[in-house]
Amino acid sequence: MLNIYPVHAFKDNYIWVIHNQDYAVVVDPGIASPVIEYLALKKLQLSAILITHHHHDHTGGNAELLQLFDIPVYGPQHEFISTVTHSVKEGDRLSLSEISLHLTVLDTPGHTQGHIAYYGSDPINLVFCGDTLFSCGCGRIFEGTPQQLYESLQKICRLPDDTLAYCTHEYTLSNIRFARTVDPKNLQLIELERSAQALRNQNIPTIPTTLALEKAVNPFLRCNQQDIVNSAQNYAATSLADPLSVFTVLREWKNNF
Ligand SMILES: [Zn+2]
Repeated sequence: MLNIYPVHAFKDNYIWVIHNQDYAVVVDPGIASPVIEYLALKKLQLSAILITHHHHDHTGGNAELLQLFDIPVYGPQHEFISTVTHSVKEGDRLSLSEISLHLTVLDTPGHTQGHIAYYGSDPINLVFCGDTLFSCGCGRIFEGTPQQLYESLQKICRLPDDTLAYCTHEYTLSNIRFARTVDPKNLQLIELERSAQALRNQNIPTIPTTLALEKAVNPFLRCNQQDIVNSAQNYAATSLADPLSVFTVLREWKNNF
């Protein structure tokens, strides 16, 4: 039985701890102390660290965890992270034998130049997508280009519809506010706002989300929908010829929203 537990960190980060009864793997530990607390509470031995990109709120706990556990740290080949011991890239397969989980690496640049995601299909379809995809939104473009982030999101969306997406921030409600401005007639979005607000009122994470839901509500994945094209064209006060142009306008609009 595999558990995937969100350790809360900083203001709105989730550090995902994947574990069985004895062993755990942690994704993007930006800080060590709450992870160490959870491992102690559940009497778990940490067996690996997975990193999606170099930002400090995703890597800052590595050094302290490595003082306690002599374990591999997987991270993106195209970024320098001093604590990474195993650099991985698109298509590489990880066998996390202690928790019986196999994951495959996707290159997902855009938020950062070398950002990667990890997906698996046994026992369930899942993806650890870092700061690329958020529920109802996507990461900011810090180092890459709009085209890179657009293509990375499309790549994630080619995974099966029932794939659970484990994003690393709780941004859902503010993302929904933007999405409703862009896509005001979307009834599923209105419903999602209600359900997400109810979860947040009880401090329950809205993550993981599913790719099926995101394709229905996330404006950044719906750049070919006429309502969204129209909204982006109105904002930009120009006609937009293709989904990438719509995406680029939406990303800029969200930055200023
Ligand atoms: Zn980041």
